[in-house]
Amino acid sequence: MLGIFTIIGVSLLIFFLLASFMKPIPKEFDGEVEINLVECAICHDDFDENIVFTKRMGPLNNNYHFCESCSEEFYQEYQEQRIERVAQS
Ligand SMILES: [Zn+2]
Repeated sequence: MLGIFTIIGVSLLIFFLLASFMKPIPKEFDGEVEINLVECAICHDDFDENIVFTKRMGPLNNNYHFCESCSEEFYQEYQEQRIERVAQS
């Protein structure tokens, strides 16, 4: 009878020792990714900070964010203005 308890006790001891050696799962892999939303300065929609174009500008040197479609639209308009100017000269 005492042998059974000894075996159970030793098994539990080994189990807890192994459990204490195991590393906890790193926070990056818990399935939750923190997304920091920022507002586009042109369309005022919210976007993930990692996908917007950010520029410091203005008299207060504030950070302004521009989403992809607004940036492309800006570039498109810039190109059209350039073409117009070249055509006029
Ligand atoms: Zn935008």
